[in-house]
Amino acid sequence: MHLDIDLTGRRVVVLGHPGASRRVVARYRASGADVDRFDTLPSASSALDGATLVVRVAGTGTPSPGDDADTVLRQRCRDAGALLIREAAASDSGHVSLVGGGPGARGLLTLDAAAALRDADVVLYDRLGPTDSLAEIAPSAELVDVGKLPGHHRVPQAGINALLVQHARAGRHVVRLKGGDPFVFGRGSEELAACLEARVPCTVLPGISSSIAVPAAAGIPVTHRGVSHLFTVVSGHAPLTDEEHLHLAGLGGTIVVLMGVSTLPQLVAGLGRAGMRPDMPVAVVERGYSASQRTTSGTLATIVTDAGTARCQSPAVLVIGEVVRVGLELQGSAAHLARLTESLAS
Ligand code: SAH
Repeated sequence: MHLDIDLTGRRVVVLGHPGASRRVVARYRASGADVDRFDTLPSASSALDGATLVVRVAGTGTPSPGDDADTVLRQRCRDAGALLIREAAASDSGHVSLVGGGPGARGLLTLDAAAALRDADVVLYDRLGPTDSLAEIAPSAELVDVGKLPGHHRVPQAGINALLVQHARAGRHVVRLKGGDPFVFGRGSEELAACLEARVPCTVLPGISSSIAVPAAAGIPVTHRGVSHLFTVVSGHAPLTDEEHLHLAGLGGTIVVLMGVSTLPQLVAGLGRAGMRPDMPVAVVERGYSASQRTTSGTLATIVTDAGTARCQSPAVLVIGEVVRVGLELQGSAAHLARLTESLAS
């Protein structure tokens, strides 16, 4: 059951010890409620006056359903006209969740990722991933931007690793939220290593990687029967070697490049030298799943000029291969179908 109650300015009484209640208190305060917390139900009969909601935090010191104190609590809530609910306690053993946040759309978070964010005391995030609605998805958490703008390392990796360990050692649930999947060019494995080395428990929650999802956002399938039965995901952070260009061109499948906008000219030249056909379709998909998502398409021979004219910028996913044509054709027939349906309807 999901109840959507506006608690702005309403009195909420939380019963539970400070540590166990901290997340519940932070969440109700964030929703605008006027929160009072007590370890146990105060004997003063006025303690629940004016309360809309009484929250008992499961575990230490609060009545459990069925015992005498529980009967008293229920009666006093009824007398005060307050709803009584039960919420889970925050544990005191700090841990880290390394969470893949997907390519940016809130709906592309996994259920486990959303649950970890809801339970977090601290979220360390950067610019990719679902950052817009973070305060809503992680209502009890302190939000820390450790993001790296291209070329500007705001918090160096060693600093992020140290923060993860430091917060977890203070007993907090730390969510390290990363764009896409944490183990695809995200340095997630380094963060996991830092936690393991510090003996801090760390769970990895995979996410939807932009390498598949951003082409899909533009209607481009990374594989298509009879067209491409493999795809290779490459980092364009640094130019590839000629040997790598040869291998890539020789595979004959789809090539997906992340972080590749600034090295696009070197890649195109390298693949050309390695024998790739100049009319091979190429697409640049910028800012997938945002309101300003845009696809620029061309061929190996034209894409550098096309992307330059369109002023393509990071973040973008590049797709090289016949699947780009499949995507464009699918889009074309979808648009054609929509027009046809529209004209038939009018
Ligand atoms: N771990 C991430 C990738 C991190 S590298 C993942 O699995 O998706 C960062 C690169 O991912 C960006 O430079 C860009 O190439 C790509 N990227 C991530 N999100 C994107 C989005 N919404 N639109 C376009 N490109 C995106």
